[in-house]
Amino acid sequence: MSKRDYYEILGVSKTAADQDIKSAYRKLALKHHPDRNPESQEAEDKFKEAAEAYAVLADTDKRHVYDRFGHAGLGGAATGGFDPTVFTGFEDILGGLGDIFGFGDALGGGRRRGGPQRGSDLRYDLEISFEESAKGAETHIQIPRQEPCEVCHGSGAAEGSKPSTCPQCHGRGQLRYQQGFFTVARTCAQCRGSGSIITKPCTTCRGAGRVQKERKLTVRIPAGIATGQRLRLGAEGEAGPSGGPAGDLYVVIHVQDHEFFQRDGNDLFCEIPVNYPTLAIGGEIRIQTLEGEEPFPVPEGTQSGTTFTLRGRGMPDVTGRGRGNLMVTVKVVTPKKLTRDQRKLLEQLADSLPKEKFEPTPIVGEDDKGLFDRVKDIFG
Ligand SMILES: [Zn+2]
Ligand SMILES: [Zn+2]
Repeated sequence: MSKRDYYEILGVSKTAADQDIKSAYRKLALKHHPDRNPESQEAEDKFKEAAEAYAVLADTDKRHVYDRFGHAGLGGAATGGFDPTVFTGFEDILGGLGDIFGFGDALGGGRRRGGPQRGSDLRYDLEISFEESAKGAETHIQIPRQEPCEVCHGSGAAEGSKPSTCPQCHGRGQLRYQQGFFTVARTCAQCRGSGSIITKPCTTCRGAGRVQKERKLTVRIPAGIATGQRLRLGAEGEAGPSGGPAGDLYVVIHVQDHEFFQRDGNDLFCEIPVNYPTLAIGGEIRIQTLEGEEPFPVPEGTQSGTTFTLRGRGMPDVTGRGRGNLMVTVKVVTPKKLTRDQRKLLEQLADSLPKEKFEPTPIVGEDDKGLFDRVKDIFG
């Protein structure tokens, strides 16, 4: 099987800067992420392929070799597994996927050979109000999770006894073997990765080294966060069995809809009903912004459906840099009930306006003005 070119895989040029390679890889990794493509072998292959390409191109030495000699030049270097530290900064993408790659806990907590298994990652779905997403917030969540047993301090062994070294893996906790490009590490079945065997189990946790607990945690929500984004709380997931390190907790954000603001990217959209006279002769209306209600001048002769852009008054960017825009669309409101005086005034106005003939005009393109709006435009 001929291997694809690494630059081609990442979709970057041969002269691409490290930063471009990194962001190209991030994009691909997110797209083909196994979390998003469950049970898709194709996605998993693409995900691995991108990781392999990145592992080479992100390493200056390997990239030099690859540029000069291609895949052949890398020979054993590429196929003999790669240094997972090149993925530093991608923990959010690769976290928990160590099993696919065979570098297990090398991501995040430094390289570890054998030893107790890492606990599972947890997911918590958190619903927040629109205001909380706009201003940022601090909130408390309560999660049920496995925590280290306090009686045996996570060892799982009864007081006064000690776990003995596992004879199968000689305390490594893992059995390693080569499979194509990847070094696959399989957790030792006999000790379940702990590297040791408990002869006299702790009575509180029955030798598991961990117990189920409800834990209250504080979550800091950055301003500008949107539905679907997730916060990673390192080591706040399940405790590992037999004293293993904890997994991570992912808090997935769901933002409630706002009464009248609609969000698109960092831009906010809203519609304000305005009386016809204000649009015709101009005037001040009250608009709602993230900072509260404020006056806004409507110029004379404003058509219904006109959108005003308030720069930098939209949602803050979640990175803390900059804000989107606030788009205010004014819509004429036709009064449903009129007092006798108001009717008289409108009749006078109607009489004084030029008698225009209603000519149907075709509705073109993306003009969102319906026929009804056009009629209103003419007759007020
Ligand atoms: Zn215990
Ligand atoms: Zn073992």
